Amino acid sequence: MANYKNIESALIHGGISTDPTTGAVNVPIYQTSTYRQSGLGEEPKWEYSRTGNPTRAALEALIAELEHGKAGFAFGSGMAAITAVLSLFEAGDRVLISSNVYGGTFRVLDKVFNHFNIRYSIEDTTDLDALEKKITPDVKAILVESPANPLLTVTDLAGVAAIAKKHGILSIADNTFMTPYLQRPIELGVDIVIHSATKYLGGHSDVVAGLVVVNDDALAQRLAFIQNSTGGVLAPFDSFLLIRGIKTLGVRLDRHVQNAEKAAAYLQNHKAVKKVYYPGLPGAQGYEINKRQAKNGGAMISFELNENYDIKKFFKALKLVSLAESLGGVESLVCHPASMTHAAIPYEVRQSVGITDGLIRLSVGIESIDDILADLEQAIAESGEE
Ligand SMILES: *Cc1c(COP(=O)(O)O)cnc(C)c1O
Repeated sequence: MANYKNIESALIHGGISTDPTTGAVNVPIYQTSTYRQSGLGEEPKWEYSRTGNPTRAALEALIAELEHGKAGFAFGSGMAAITAVLSLFEAGDRVLISSNVYGGTFRVLDKVFNHFNIRYSIEDTTDLDALEKKITPDVKAILVESPANPLLTVTDLAGVAAIAKKHGILSIADNTFMTPYLQRPIELGVDIVIHSATKYLGGHSDVVAGLVVVNDDALAQRLAFIQNSTGGVLAPFDSFLLIRGIKTLGVRLDRHVQNAEKAAAYLQNHKAVKKVYYPGLPGAQGYEINKRQAKNGGAMISFELNENYDIKKFFKALKLVSLAESLGGVESLVCHPASMTHAAIPYEVRQSVGITDGLIRLSVGIESIDDILADLEQAIAESGEE
């Protein structure tokens, strides 16, 4: 039995945290594709690394423990994880998705799963009554992000899980923006949790990975089958990097969030800023729901500058903060969702859900907040009218 009670300790000691054969305090990188078997028909524990690898297994046990689920699965990217989950569905099935989801989630449904006649509808998942009315007999799942990407829209996860249960369909939450340190959807009744571990879980912008956690044995068996059959597994070295990253998730996120709260307040009070999206700001959409289901507002902020500021100049002028795709690393990053992370979503759809061409997304890093704010300040000044 675990000799700890709190997630700060589970981040470090959870799953399989020491090597069972040598006692090494870190599970080594088992860089092997196959395993010597002792004899025919003797059911070896390890047989082939697509099916199972001890380093990956340590990571899978760790994420299952952190999310309070029964089983975890590690994939070569967040999109491989999402693809595996969507592979649970059959031709004729439909998935309802939040109106602002990661662009790649939209794209894989719109351009790949449509080949197999697995369909999607974009819904406003913040309105539970309206959402429930959209459940037709072909709907087999509701996939949400909370806070969603990039408008940080909050969806009531327990509410979505309850609706899904009532209709006998699956609820799926992409928990990338929060991580189990801030929010645990399975505790709220959600069936499947997905992560792009490339972001906060890895935390150092040096690994691309995806994770899935479920809390049901039958679902776990189906996902294990899909993982082994389709083969998008995470490599042993990347599994090791992720375990290493997760150990510091708690201290990193404490600083990320502390900085984000200061940055959100700074932006909200700035005369050049038209609108700030941050679920940790009192008065933000879903503020109360987020407070109930998550530890705090996380460390992602989106904002718009007033019309007389030139965002091209703003991005160009930033020095400490880098213009880049991705988020959740120790370094502060900004992106322009309309042309970067959400470019796969057609212009009209982007406009209708509020992803305007002026929207800026900021992943607040763990540098000195004074340095981050000074950089934003000089870039805003640089982008204003002369
Ligand atoms: C980045 C991201 C993904 C995709 O993950 P990859 O690791 O880039 O494949 C999915 N969902 C969200 C919310 C993301 O931010």
